[in-house]
Amino acid sequence: DHAHGTGLLDGLDPDQRAAAGSGGGPLLIIAGPGTGKTRTLTHRIAHLVTERAVPAEECLAITFTRRAAEEMAERLEALGVRVAVATFHSLGVRILREHHARLGLSASFGIADPERQVEVARSVCGDDGEARRLVAEGAEIYKKALRAQDLVDFDDLVALPLALLEDDPALVDAYRDRYRWISVDEYQDVDERQYRLLGLLAPPDGNLTAIGDPDQAIYRFRGADVGFFLRFREDFPGARVVHLTRNYRSSAAVVRGALEVISPSTLVPGRELHPFGDHGDALIAVHHAASEQAEAAFVVRTIEQVLGGASFHAFDSGRVTSDGTQGLGFSDFAVLYRTDRRSRALVDALTQSGLPFQKRSHDRLADRPGVARIVRELPFTAGESVVDRVRAAAGEDHVAHELLKPLAVECGTDFERFHTTLALGVEVDAWDPRADRISLLTLHASKGLEFPVVFIVGCEDGLLPLRWPGQDDDTDEERRLLFVGMTRARRHLFLSHTAARPRSPFLADLGEFRRIGDAQPKRRRGGTQASLF
Ligand code: ATP
Ligand code: MG
Repeated sequence: DHAHGTGLLDGLDPDQRAAAGSGGGPLLIIAGPGTGKTRTLTHRIAHLVTERAVPAEECLAITFTRRAAEEMAERLEALGVRVAVATFHSLGVRILREHHARLGLSASFGIADPERQVEVARSVCGDDGEARRLVAEGAEIYKKALRAQDLVDFDDLVALPLALLEDDPALVDAYRDRYRWISVDEYQDVDERQYRLLGLLAPPDGNLTAIGDPDQAIYRFRGADVGFFLRFREDFPGARVVHLTRNYRSSAAVVRGALEVISPSTLVPGRELHPFGDHGDALIAVHHAASEQAEAAFVVRTIEQVLGGASFHAFDSGRVTSDGTQGLGFSDFAVLYRTDRRSRALVDALTQSGLPFQKRSHDRLADRPGVARIVRELPFTAGESVVDRVRAAAGEDHVAHELLKPLAVECGTDFERFHTTLALGVEVDAWDPRADRISLLTLHASKGLEFPVVFIVGCEDGLLPLRWPGQDDDTDEERRLLFVGMTRARRHLFLSHTAARPRSPFLADLGEFRRIGDAQPKRRRGGTQASLF
C-alpha cells in the first residue's frame, strides 16, 4: 500500500518511494553507495509522522556516529519533523539514565573518556608497577573501580542496557511500547551487542527498518559482523526487501571504477549500481609520487588548479578549459587516508599553501572556543529544555551551537546533567560540516559523506590493504574500505601512491583511468603523460 502523490515522497524515485511509503512491519533496504538510502530513510520517517499520523515520540532513528546523527536530525528538521535520532551509545546513555539506580549509579553518572579510564586505573594502584599491570589485565577490577566513581565507559553504554533488558522482560515491553518505529542506518556495521539490543527493542514482526550495504562493512576490527545484516530476513520473517540500484551521487567514471575495485568481493551477489544523472565529464586519475611530501604537494597543486578552473581535458590537449568544476569551494574537496599518520605531510603542505582545511580530531568539548561562554551564560537564558537554552545562549555562534546540540538533546530538560557531562570532558568531533574548508579524513570517518572531488592518498600495498605485524590480514575488508572511499566522490577521484611501497594490488582491478604526473621519468619522456599537473 503505497502513498502516491504525497508531498514527502515526491522527491524520491519509484523504488525509493516504495520503501519510504510502505507501512508497518520489518523492512530491509539493501543498496549500494549513493543510491539514496539515507535520503529514503529520512523521507520515510517524515512521511510516517506527517502523513500517516505516527506519533513522533514513537520514532527512533539509529546511526553509527554522532555526526551522522546530527546530520540526520537536521535533514528531518528540514522536512518538518523532530524525532529521536541516536547513536547506539547515546541510546544506551538514555536507557542508563532512566534505570541508573539498578546499576548502583547516580542519576548524574559520568562517562569516562579514554583519558579518564587511565586515571581510574591509576587511582586504584598508585605507582605500584605490578598493580598497574594487573589492572591492565584485570578488567573486573577496573570496572569495579569505575563504578565506585560513578562512571561508565563507552563499552558499558551498550553492554549495560543490554544486560538490563535481557534480565527484565517487562522493561523490554516498556521500550517496545515507547519506540514502535525504529530505523537503523548502516546496519551492515552492527556488532553483536548492538544486534542483541535491537532484537530486544524490535519484536520479529515490529516496525524495524534496516538499511545498509554489505560492500561497505568496514568495522569488523571493532567487532561488527556483516552476518547480522545478511540474516535480517531470517530474524524478521516476512520482511519487505527493497533494492535501490540508481546511484545519484557519483559520475559514471567513479561508479565504474568503484565497481571494478569491489568486483572480486562476493559478499553481494549480482550487485547492481547504475550511475544516474549528469555530472559532466569526470575522471579517475592515478598519480605516482616520489615521496609522501611529493604526494602532498600533488594534492595541493591539484586542488589549486581545479579551483582555478582547470579542465581535465587539459590532460590530453594541454589546453586549460573550463569544465564546470569552476565554482567549487574548499569544502568540496576531501583528502582521505588509511591511517591518521598519513595525514602529517598533508597538514604540512596545506598549512604552507594557506589553503583552509580541517582534520577530524577529538577535542574536549569544554575546551572549544564559544562553548565555555555558552555554558556560563546558560543559567540566565530562558527556555524549557536545555536545547532551547543552548540555542538562546549560542546566538550567532553556530559552530558552538552545533557542538553542544547533541549533548543538549540527550539531556532533555534534567540542566544539571548537561553540566556534569560537560565537566567530565565529553569528546567532540571538531569537524564542522558547514565550514568552507578542505576535509582531511580517515577512510573510516568518510562513511556516509560525499564530496565533488576526492583524493585517496597512500594507495600502497601494506597501507591499503593495511598490514600490521603479527596480525591477520583482512584483505576483503580493506578492499571495501577503498570502495567506501572511492564512492564518496561525486565527480573526480584522484588515487595516489608513492615510491615507499609497491602499488596497492586493488588498483590492478581498475580498468580505465588516467595516469597523471607520474614520478617515473621514463614514462614522462614517453609523452603520454599530462603536463598540466
Ligand atoms: P551511502 O551508502 O554512501 O551512505 P546513501 O545510499 O545513503 O549512500 P544518500 O546519501 O542518501 O545515499 O544519497 C546520495 C546522494 O544522492 C545525495 O546527494 C542525495 O541527495 C542524492 N539523491 C538520492 N536520491 C535522489 C533522488 N531520488 N533524486 C535526486 N537526488 C537523489
Ligand atoms: Mg547513507
